[in-house]
Amino acid sequence: MTARRIDGKASAAAIRERVAQSAAEFADRIGRPPGLATVLVGEDPASAVYVRMKGKATAEASMASFAHVLPATISEAELLDLVGALNDDERVDGILVQLPLPKAIDTEKVIAAIDPAKDVDGFHPLNQGRLFAGLEGLVACTPLGCLHLLKAELGSLAGLDAVVIGRSNIVGKPMAMLLLSENATVTMAHSKSRDLAAIVRRADIVVAAVGRPEMVRGDWIKPGATVIDVGINRIPTDDGKGRLVGDVAFDEAAAVAGAITPVPGGVGPMTIAMLMRNTLVAAHRRAGFAEPEDL
Ligand code: NDP
Repeated sequence: MTARRIDGKASAAAIRERVAQSAAEFADRIGRPPGLATVLVGEDPASAVYVRMKGKATAEASMASFAHVLPATISEAELLDLVGALNDDERVDGILVQLPLPKAIDTEKVIAAIDPAKDVDGFHPLNQGRLFAGLEGLVACTPLGCLHLLKAELGSLAGLDAVVIGRSNIVGKPMAMLLLSENATVTMAHSKSRDLAAIVRRADIVVAAVGRPEMVRGDWIKPGATVIDVGINRIPTDDGKGRLVGDVAFDEAAAVAGAITPVPGGVGPMTIAMLMRNTLVAAHRRAGFAEPEDL
């Protein structure tokens, strides 16, 4: 391996520590800590794990956690009522509705019902539009975490060629907009792109957000490039437990790249750190305070 291994776990821990410090100062000033409400509908085991992790991280960041667990049978109207109540609750600075929602519920409608000032996931169309327009808003946590790692690794991204593979609303598109805002030259690749390997070979920065295990091979990587692997894929193993791999063939790519994120321990921990950061920022904006520095 020649590439530097980008330690997302360590970066995330450092951010969470700074968030905790700033959250404690916020509480001293205003008489209450920043608050994050989570809403979990149904019993999807992966979603339950994510929500538990987010609640734990919230408490560790000296913030208040309000957990709402609802049965899968809840109606859309009841869920919208809860979102409305959380919008009106002064103690709540951030609202996170864990996706996916049960099929009977219109996800877009629920996301659109969240107060954009409390939309710490950055999924509300207003926040997505603000990102597109280069205006201040709340940005989706995963791409924000990727950008943080890239800037820590590379400093200025100006003029670099960046290729984002994947164009989902929650990762690929906001990632491309963030890179553009940092003056990278951005290519968005997707399932219809022709000769993906050749596109990736041009890139100084590769962000893979596809959901296909080890699709990006070592010989696609330009020597010295920085590779951010968003993918989380479980592949079968002989012991039946399965193993997590990214969208990039790590060993091959690490032999060529300048720096690369591992899976797990790369982008994943940064997503939760950015959720804490977004909640802190939302709390400051709602209170009319200046933004916390260095976050
Ligand atoms: P989506 O399924 O919403 O999007 C996948 C994207 O990949 C689509 O734009 C699709 O293109 C593109 N794609 C699919 N096949 C190919 C291919 N053969 N060549 C090029 N592009 C292709 O996924 P998400 O964006 O939600 O997630 C992507 C990955 O990131 C998943 O593994 C997910 O688990 C992981 N993830 C990790 C997070 C973290 O915290 N680390 C958070 C969120 C996601 P098209 O649009 O043409 O269909």
